[in-house]
Amino acid sequence: MLNKVRLLTPGPTPLPERVRLALAHDMIHHRKSEFKAIMHRVQEQLRVLFGTQGPVLPLSCSGTGAMTAAVHGLFAPGEKVLVIEGGKFGQRWRAIAEQRGLTAVSIEVPWGQAVTPEAVRQALDADPAIRGVLVQLSETSTGVLHPVQALAQLTRSRDVLLVVDGISGVGLSPCPMDEWGLDCLLTGSQKGLMLPPGLALLALSPRAWSKAEATASGCFYFNLPKERANVEKGQTLFTSPVSLIVGLEESLKLLLENGLDPIYRKQWALTMLTRTGVTALGLELFAPQDFAWGITSVRLPAGVDGNEVVRLAAERHGVYMAGGQDHLKGRIVRIGHMGWVDWADVLAGLHALAASLQEAGGHSGSRDYLEQGLAAYHAALAVDPGTPLPLTHA
Ligand SMILES: *Cc1c(COP(=O)(O)O)cnc(C)c1O
Repeated sequence: MLNKVRLLTPGPTPLPERVRLALAHDMIHHRKSEFKAIMHRVQEQLRVLFGTQGPVLPLSCSGTGAMTAAVHGLFAPGEKVLVIEGGKFGQRWRAIAEQRGLTAVSIEVPWGQAVTPEAVRQALDADPAIRGVLVQLSETSTGVLHPVQALAQLTRSRDVLLVVDGISGVGLSPCPMDEWGLDCLLTGSQKGLMLPPGLALLALSPRAWSKAEATASGCFYFNLPKERANVEKGQTLFTSPVSLIVGLEESLKLLLENGLDPIYRKQWALTMLTRTGVTALGLELFAPQDFAWGITSVRLPAGVDGNEVVRLAAERHGVYMAGGQDHLKGRIVRIGHMGWVDWADVLAGLHALAASLQEAGGHSGSRDYLEQGLAAYHAALAVDPGTPLPLTHA
């Protein structure tokens, strides 16, 4: 009760008041005109967010459901896909592909690094049977941003679909689907979109739609062509997640009334704030080069238990961060700065990290880590808006 609860987790993320109030709206019926009107308005907004002319399907599931829908809708058993495996969520692509009966070949990328377009080019050249590349825009388990724009340069000239899990990237860093040439872009509600968990969004390119039409869907629930036919009527195939769609209209209004470019610039500035702050604390960045804009992963000094640091930050300071997964358990801390998170939340996070680190037996670093972080934040925001955003792997 002494502190505000601050979710600096990589989903779920804090909810803006306007979104919470929209979620409190009375229930309306999902087959009636009022709901259809909301669906049509949301559809226009979603196309701006995704940077696409085509439909963006709302699916009633968590993000993994949309990953499942993509794999089962776009590929038939026996087809071969290339998986970019540089973390937990890359591994999830492989597991879903294998469940669908696909042959999955992987490029194993060291955790903390991005895949190189050259490695993907070699893999595609070496095996013309590959029909899809499955990748994360932002690999949330490591905090890495993969170069999907460059990967699309390789896939769009081949008979290979580029399927991008943008769950921790959409609304956080630029990913204009049509301009870049992605074939599938999907996301979930509980990260950049500032909504509760439970809604996923998925869009396809025209050639991916052709593939989806020619592929018998692998499951009853997810049927992309049937969902598309419903979306055109302001409907979903089964009962719609009504409240989440109502909340989505409000969260998209918030994002778009600011404009996407300022949102991405704010995310970039928060990333600079976090990275500068933890570095001033004497900590090492887990993703030194190709880093995501919604999450910062930090290595802990030897002898310090990361789970303990995360526990202390929550208990003593009300700041919830994430630990590492798999072999990174206890060894890294992941600071989410996605969605309805601002500079003051990140300062609270840095302070909670510093104090918890010290309590857990680590060192304390520079005393002016907050000032250094803030200086980096303001410097990032002061960049002339005419200057292109510094995509880290450009
Ligand atoms: C959070 C996340 C997922 C999993 O989403 P769920 O909503 O938990 O199913 C998948 N991929 C990435 C990149 C994520 O960040």
